Amino acid sequence: MDFNLSEEHIMIRNAARDFAQTELLPGVIERDNKQKFPNELVKKMGALGFMGIMVDPKYGGSGMDAISYVLIMEELSKIDASASVMVSVNNSLVCYGLETYGSEEQKQKYLTKLATGEFLGAFCLSEPEAGSDATSQKTTAIDKGDHYLINGTKNWITNGGSADVYLVIAQTDKEKGSHGINAFIVEKGMKGFHVGPKEDKLGIRGSDTHTLQFNDVKVPKENRIGANGSGFRFAMKTLSGGRIGIASQALGIASGAYELALKYSKERKAFGTEICNHQAIAFKLADMYTEIEAARYLVMKAAWDKDQGNNYDRSSAMAKLYASKVAMEHTVEAVQIHGGNGFVKEYHVERLMRDAKITQIYEGTSEIQKIVISRGLIRD
Ligand SMILES: Cc1cc2nc3c(=O)[nH]c(=O)nc-3n(C[C@H](O)[C@H](O)[C@H](O)COP(=O)(O)OP(=O)(O)OC[C@H]3O[C@@H](n4cnc5c(N)ncnc54)[C@H](O)[C@@H]3O)c2cc1C
Repeated sequence: MDFNLSEEHIMIRNAARDFAQTELLPGVIERDNKQKFPNELVKKMGALGFMGIMVDPKYGGSGMDAISYVLIMEELSKIDASASVMVSVNNSLVCYGLETYGSEEQKQKYLTKLATGEFLGAFCLSEPEAGSDATSQKTTAIDKGDHYLINGTKNWITNGGSADVYLVIAQTDKEKGSHGINAFIVEKGMKGFHVGPKEDKLGIRGSDTHTLQFNDVKVPKENRIGANGSGFRFAMKTLSGGRIGIASQALGIASGAYELALKYSKERKAFGTEICNHQAIAFKLADMYTEIEAARYLVMKAAWDKDQGNNYDRSSAMAKLYASKVAMEHTVEAVQIHGGNGFVKEYHVERLMRDAKITQIYEGTSEIQKIVISRGLIRD
């Protein structure tokens, strides 16, 4: 067993760290305040190969492994979790979904642009009445011979107002339940496709979250992904990999908050000494570091499972469940270590605390991760 990163992995991590420090950090507070979507930064991340990290170079991707993906995600998330969720959705939901299940024509037409950052992707599963219970899809896609007609509403869609390509899950045959669901590629600007107002959120405020409306949207038959009725499996398998991305986002938020708290505790003095010399603070740092390392091993194990071709449903659920818990608990501790300064924006930890919460909710809530883990345990 080798716990060391390869030279190549260290280089990749350092490139992401440099980018986060020089490009993401300067405007992060303003983007959070104004809910500003960083269009120009997405293009820069595309130029660095961050938008198609695991995609085969023949489709414009970087051809890296899942370990590289989580290293990049952690570094971006330490500074700006709004930017990293765009990376995560584009990579592990949209690019992965198209590369694994799409036709050669779909890959040539869409994946080549998504993997380079020329296009941005969105993944549309959630609905007002179908969140955790994703089989209750109300959006319909009726087979009209050479095309499908899509009607319905999707909500909470990340990159919703900025994407060029939307992977939309819809019910084609209600009688068949989850086997009657399909996934479709919808392009920005298709007739009948409307983007609702941007959500005003607690955290990841720089990311772009919208409700989408589909009114008789005519989607050509060749835009269906995979065999008829395979859409639910497509969504579940894709989300399983997406959880590795969100777990590494949570890891980055937690480690970013820890690094800030450690630094602050070595500078701030109270009762004649740096606060890190008070055992109550030192023990918080010890707990933070230990649990962040434990989260890192779970995240790395899930990524390693994916790279090895192992089933990663359980390891990705465990990584997301634990890393998101650590992110939530230890960002609160990082604010506490900063005292009053933790409560204001310029010290960054209050933003990390707000950003941490979403990692326990999207791509399957913590309760849903426990269902995935426990069902597997009982079945095996
Ligand atoms: C900022 C943001 C971005 C998002 N981005 C996307 C996106 O890009 N694409 C997309 O498709 N969706 C996206 N989502 C939606 C997200 O995945 C859902 O919010 C999430 O899956 C939970 O669904 P829900 O909100 O309907 O909650 P519900 O399913 O209504 O759950 C409410 C509560 O009940 C619990 N619960 C539900 N069922 C069970 C059960 N069987 N056992 C125990 N507890 C249960 C849940 O854990 C939760 O605590 C996003 C959400 C947010 C807030």
